[in-house]
Amino acid sequence: MKAVQLPILSCFALLLAVALALPAPAHAKEYPTSTVRKVVIDPGHGGTNLGALGITGVYEKDINLAVALQLRSLLVKKSGVEVLLTREDDRDLPLTQRIGLANSSGADLFISIHCNASFNNEAQGAETYVLSPEAALEESERVARKQIQREGRLASCDDEGTAAVVKDLWQSSAHLRSYDLAGLMQSLLVKRCNMKDRGVKELAIVVLRGAEMPAVVVELGFLSHPKEGRMLADEQYQKDLASALYWSILEHDHRLNESGARSGVAQGRR
Ligand SMILES: [Zn+2]
Repeated sequence: MKAVQLPILSCFALLLAVALALPAPAHAKEYPTSTVRKVVIDPGHGGTNLGALGITGVYEKDINLAVALQLRSLLVKKSGVEVLLTREDDRDLPLTQRIGLANSSGADLFISIHCNASFNNEAQGAETYVLSPEAALEESERVARKQIQREGRLASCDDEGTAAVVKDLWQSSAHLRSYDLAGLMQSLLVKRCNMKDRGVKELAIVVLRGAEMPAVVVELGFLSHPKEGRMLADEQYQKDLASALYWSILEHDHRLNESGARSGVAQGRR
């Protein structure tokens, strides 16, 4: 019997050794996310809507798209995040359609990518916008007054009054998390890309109106600035910008998990 068992064991040991020596499966990601599983990225402008004109002759719409494609690649390849782009080529679409895609797809984040420009060619740096609470409240009121058709998750509400309350709750909880994400983006753009920090700002910005998830508009620098305008047209710099946005999303996801774990512990203690 021993003479039969020994080859079987040797074969098993060989298989085990081979399995351990094999690389991780192709679907295993380097930095998997836990909470942020679906992201809508919105490259600003497109088509005949050119955006700002850079000092090198490059249009904002093209830089926005290039950075968005780089960011998508990082999120998909390194973290296995599902990414939807509002546009993948040179076309324009209405602002309401951009945020509408995020709401209807149940996205965890909405990120609208833009570049700045100014008549003052000394203006430079990154700034990030979140929707002001007043503008968010106006959206809830529009739902209550039936000025907005109940779609997506609001469609299952019994009436407009209930839908307005639900909308308000989503927007309120998203507001704080939008601030967190915007703060992280500012911090990493400043550190990694050596940009001037112009801060996080609140605005009644149209493309963020009605967002039912954390949503930001990030301005990646000034196309009108002599140095920054040239850098924005550089492919490697665009990759650096996308990388800064990617790591801010990962840190945001990490913080969400940490706060979720803490609230879970707190609930367990009750
Ligand atoms: Zn823009």
